[in-house]
Amino acid sequence: MKDRFGRTIDYARISLTSRCNLRCPYCYGEETRTDPADELRPDEIAEIVSVLAELDMQKVRLSGGEPLLRPDLGEIISTVSKTRGIRETVMTTNAQGLTGKLRNLKDAGLMRLNISLDSLQAERYRNMNGGSLEEVLSSLDMAIELDMLPLKINCVLLRGINDDEIEGFINMARERPLQIRFIELMPMGKLSKRDQRRDPAEILKNIRELRPVKAGYPGQPAQCWAGPGFKGSIGFIRAFSDPFCRSCNRIRITSEGRIRPCLADDTEWDFRGAIGNPARLKKIIMTAIENKPEKHRFSEGFVPSKFMYCIGG
Ligand code: SAM
Repeated sequence: MKDRFGRTIDYARISLTSRCNLRCPYCYGEETRTDPADELRPDEIAEIVSVLAELDMQKVRLSGGEPLLRPDLGEIISTVSKTRGIRETVMTTNAQGLTGKLRNLKDAGLMRLNISLDSLQAERYRNMNGGSLEEVLSSLDMAIELDMLPLKINCVLLRGINDDEIEGFINMARERPLQIRFIELMPMGKLSKRDQRRDPAEILKNIRELRPVKAGYPGQPAQCWAGPGFKGSIGFIRAFSDPFCRSCNRIRITSEGRIRPCLADDTEWDFRGAIGNPARLKKIIMTAIENKPEKHRFSEGFVPSKFMYCIGG
């Protein structure tokens, strides 16, 4: 479906939970109690996705919070991927506990992954978020072995915290079929001060071998680069320095059933009450898409009222 600025909206990101097992400093805020009973159930997700598909949505990303915390994740993936019209079912995860589940999730219909990874140093990684680096690295190996490519790594670049590891990440892209995406910090968590933000494109000043790589698909937010002999590539997602609103093709659905057409605009529509009434559900989704803002307001100092884990990354 097209919005009022002529953008084709064909990509829905569905948050399965706002619970998370890690505490990334740029994403998590105050502890809030979230009740799993408030999260969309598989049958509700099935109904929403079938209406989304009727509106020509083709790609669904499952995110959160941490989607792996849902015990019914395999069932959800299976339902979404079997929905007529949905061509891609993908997931963003921190990969904690993924190795024991990945094969089954792939069999259920999961096509690809974005994996968050902010440090290649085990102790720093644990200090940043409380997780196990080893588990992430084993998950990467397994996803490559299972041919779930292209495999994307999300690294939020934080000045003075992990920006001394850029070279290590670039070496990963040199040696492995990974797209390492350096993400510019957005003000959506406790750590969101301007001086902690670093424009990833600054990397180009120091690493001269990098050349632009053609975008993999229309609306791809990352500008991608690679050097001679690279097996993978690196990408920059620069929500501040070079917003990609003009080609934004997505809407977000929160884990408790609210639809949000722009990450950085607090307007949301609650549609949980419309589940069971596909015509009403469709109308609410269409209204949200029609009202998708032209661009985000980060540069005007806008700070979303919800942190990322509550919206769905
Ligand atoms: N738990 C999963 C994970 O860690 O990948 C999925 C949810 S997480 C919110 C999804 C992505 O959001 C992360 O990869 C991270 O890069 C991004 N993210 C969260 N907060 C952010 C912020 N303040 N600025 C930029 N990116 C952020």
